[in-house]
Amino acid sequence: MSGGVRTTAGPRKRGRVASGILSAQLLISGPLLVVIIALLFVSPSVYSSPVVFGMVFFFFALTAVSALVPWDSIPRLWGALLPFANLAGILVLREFDPQTGVGLLVVLPIIWIARTFGSTLTIAGVAGTILAMWGTRLLRGSPITWNDFVTFVVVPVLVGFVAGAIYVSSARGRAQAKLLRQHSSMVQVALEKASRQEGVLNELLNAVDFGVIAFDRTGTVTFVNRAQRQYLTDFGTPADAVVHPVIYQADGVTLYTEDDRPLNRALSGQAFDNLIIWVGEPGERRAAHSVSSRILHDREGEYDGGVIVLTDITKELEAVRARDDLIGSVSHELRSPLTSILGYLDLARDDDQLDEETRRMIDVAYANSERLLVIVTDLLRAASDADQQLAMSFTAGDVAQIARDSVEAHRVMAEEREVELVMDGADSAVAAIDPMRMRQVLDNLITNAIKYNREWGTVTVAVEPGAGGVSVEVRDTGQGIPEADLPRIFDRFYRTKSAKSSATVGTGLGLSITREIVHRHGGHLTVTSELGIGTTFRVTVPTERESSANAGARSVAA
Ligand code: ADP
Repeated sequence: MSGGVRTTAGPRKRGRVASGILSAQLLISGPLLVVIIALLFVSPSVYSSPVVFGMVFFFFALTAVSALVPWDSIPRLWGALLPFANLAGILVLREFDPQTGVGLLVVLPIIWIARTFGSTLTIAGVAGTILAMWGTRLLRGSPITWNDFVTFVVVPVLVGFVAGAIYVSSARGRAQAKLLRQHSSMVQVALEKASRQEGVLNELLNAVDFGVIAFDRTGTVTFVNRAQRQYLTDFGTPADAVVHPVIYQADGVTLYTEDDRPLNRALSGQAFDNLIIWVGEPGERRAAHSVSSRILHDREGEYDGGVIVLTDITKELEAVRARDDLIGSVSHELRSPLTSILGYLDLARDDDQLDEETRRMIDVAYANSERLLVIVTDLLRAASDADQQLAMSFTAGDVAQIARDSVEAHRVMAEEREVELVMDGADSAVAAIDPMRMRQVLDNLITNAIKYNREWGTVTVAVEPGAGGVSVEVRDTGQGIPEADLPRIFDRFYRTKSAKSSATVGTGLGLSITREIVHRHGGHLTVTSELGIGTTFRVTVPTERESSANAGARSVAA
């Protein structure tokens, strides 16, 4: 694996070292050539000097070596031979005629060494140059004069200063370059990480079975996942169209206006939940999607685009429709025989020859059939989406008596489930009620309190007349209702998870009808519950009927 890394990094590095050496050599050979050519004009005697010609050849040879040697594939220090060879050559050339000042050119290889080969070789180069100059001068043996000031002082100071300055500045440059390289490699790593994460996120979003559309702060769509593209092509819309051009509202027939289209609402910065859209023309193959949108913010809290999620809910809506159709048709079918039973029981009650006991039994059967008809009618109403109101008729009724009747009617059920049923509170509490509906409320609450109770549990029904109206509390010692479910138990057809998974039979309609009846009385219904301890429902209805407008206001507040 490391070999693989070297081969990829190699060619770029090799080229750089070799071309650096060649250009450094040319920067020495070039000026030297100019000086030597100038010397030919100034001092024609050099024509006869083999030293000068030898040195011209020497510098050509060095230039050739710098161009031909594969510097990148040999140790870097070998490259230092070249500036030292140049130094030696210049010193030799200087010896030919020190007065020409050609010796000053030693700063060129010294610059090269100081810039490239570190402090030790720089010191060696500087010291070697100075010693060579001083040594050759002393060896000449002639007396030292002011003319030698250049050799002994100026050149050493110049060489030393240039070497020091170049070394320091290139060391700083190298440190900065290193820092830059570190930064750029950190940026590179961060970029790679970000792009890897983006890749994983895209993979994930493409793997999920709900549609996802993301857009940036300028409103440009930046991502459409595979599921969304599939939703589009399923209905003949091109995959790059982002959304379907024609969509219908929850009723399936009303077109969305341009401003109300979920994508446009999201692009204008709105967050929303579970908007229903229908795609496909009415009467043809269709699909329903639930659309939600969320707005995103950057670290500074500024708007940074958003995301839209679309879930296919066609099956759920079809199941709801099938359930409503079934409940609707079953309750419709039950209504006719029930009405007939009621009619015949009514006729039977008119028979004067009935003995007391039979009449009492027919009355009970009649009252129960009547209640059954009310329940079936409510079921029919709940199953049809129509916004029909419950039929109600108010009178002054004794809530305590109704509660007692309901408790008595549930005795058998309670005994079967080993639950103790206790009647508590006032003996009489009159309020403005629809007695049959109030009985329906108490029946629902007491049935639930028994159904969702534990063995040997207790159900207590307590009636309290008060200034604000008459209250009835139905307390049980049952399993309780999880907090998260509390706000939903009054929804139509809602049943808690534990109720659904238990053997307890139910439709999830009882509490929604109960709440509606209580609200129609202008009263309110509250629930408190503790898991494993029990649940208490409290119904409060006003003692006197208020004007319908007020009653409506109260029921909303409740
Ligand atoms: P159901 O026909 O399922 O009883 P309801 O509308 O009467 O329908 O009740 C809705 C749900 O509320 C029930 O399914 C049950 O999960 C929960 N619930 C109602 N009353 C109680 C109670 N007393 N204790 C525990 N859970 C209850």
